[in-house]
Amino acid sequence: MFKLYNTLTGNIEDFQPLNPNEVRIYVCGPTVYDFAHIGNFRTFLFADLLRRYIKYKGYKIHHVMNITDVDDKIILRAVEQKKTLREYTDQFTQFFFEDFDALGAERPEEVLRATDHIPEMVDLIKRLESNGHTYQSEGSTYYRIGSFGRYGQLSKMNFEGNVAGGSDRVDADEYDKENVRDFVLWKAAKEGEPFWDTDLGAGRPGWHIECSAMSMKALGETFDIHAGGVDLIFPHHENEIAQSEGATGKPFVRYWVHAEFLMVEGEKMSKSKGNFYTFRDLVSKGHNPRAIRYLLLSAPHHKQLNFTLEGLRGAESTVERLNDFKRRLSELKSEPGSTVEIAGIIERARTHFGEALDDDLNTAEALAAIHDFARETNTAMAGGIIKSDDRKSLLELVDSFDSVFNVFGEVKQALLDSEVQALIDERQDARKAKNFARSDEIRNQLTEMGIILEDTKDGLRWRRK
Ligand code: AMP
Ligand code: ZN
Repeated sequence: MFKLYNTLTGNIEDFQPLNPNEVRIYVCGPTVYDFAHIGNFRTFLFADLLRRYIKYKGYKIHHVMNITDVDDKIILRAVEQKKTLREYTDQFTQFFFEDFDALGAERPEEVLRATDHIPEMVDLIKRLESNGHTYQSEGSTYYRIGSFGRYGQLSKMNFEGNVAGGSDRVDADEYDKENVRDFVLWKAAKEGEPFWDTDLGAGRPGWHIECSAMSMKALGETFDIHAGGVDLIFPHHENEIAQSEGATGKPFVRYWVHAEFLMVEGEKMSKSKGNFYTFRDLVSKGHNPRAIRYLLLSAPHHKQLNFTLEGLRGAESTVERLNDFKRRLSELKSEPGSTVEIAGIIERARTHFGEALDDDLNTAEALAAIHDFARETNTAMAGGIIKSDDRKSLLELVDSFDSVFNVFGEVKQALLDSEVQALIDERQDARKAKNFARSDEIRNQLTEMGIILEDTKDGLRWRRK
């Protein structure tokens, strides 16, 4: 049974989606004002692993991620660079996905931009208004947290007699709020800032409302999983619950799942502390994207992970070893048939891997299962006991593990002799037809596969390197 720690209840729970066939999940996405750092990517890769494991378990998935493309920092920088909001955020959204793809993450089914959903946000705020959860002050609309009895249930904070300050995401200097923890739903337009003319007046949305509005639009008023980094528990996710449940009266999310921080020398990696690496910094210094992925996934999400370059170099040699293991296995020459020893190795590895990930996604243990499996298979390769059906099953297992971790890297399947001959024949035909582009392409493909062509007096011959 797949178990997940649920921040809402504080318990490790059996995971059961509302719809038995399809899991609906929302992940808070990036604020696209700059390049994302690898701390951000620890959270996004955790969400990717969760997504992939849900699929491994046989469920269909509907995964939604937002792009926060309007906030104070974005507005400031767009104005500085004399760009429209769209022009400014388009480029950083594109950079984000370049990194996301290069880190081997799968794209969510839907990626939704905040500024494309202003009408949905306005509607939601109007529902909150009619349910008595809001008040207006100087053209802005606020959520009165005292009107929502369950406020604090996610973060387990006590809000009676609360004092200003605390989290760096709270605007404690907003003096026009009735209570320092009340948060803004709609901000009145300010001189020189972009705004939308709506029923709530001219203004722009507060940060929290976009996730309530877009998640419920895409996934329904109650859905299965909501994920993000632990810094989003308060106030962002607490506020999302107040907004969604305050409007619908229904439970919003069934499992709240949070990833711990990537740390640097005892501190959270963050833009404001300046102690961060972007993915691009590391790649330009020659580090391997797959190893960055491996490192960020190597610690379970409920534990902090300390980033060091030494740790990254360690991940690099591990990823190389896994790659090499897969290549040797795919190139292994084997006799027809199968053996019980290999069936045993496969069964043990599959069970170990599944039990580890079922246990609240214990990635460290699941990777240990992969390494044990590689070691036992190496011994079997050295002993020459692997038959051709075994080889096929072993490679299938590698692929199924890799459908979750995606760290082995591409290994080109060795070509069969008949496939090599067919390519050579096609190349000869292409040359006769003076299609040199195609003939060169085939020659390069063969070279990459380690096939050497030789012109002899008896005609064209080929051999493996
Ligand atoms: P942001 O772009 O600031 O909205 O953050 C995007 C995501 O990155 C959020 O889910 C944050 O919780 C997460 N995040 C930010 N810093 C870190 C860190 N050092 N380690 C892990 N996740 C982080
Ligand atoms: Zn969010």
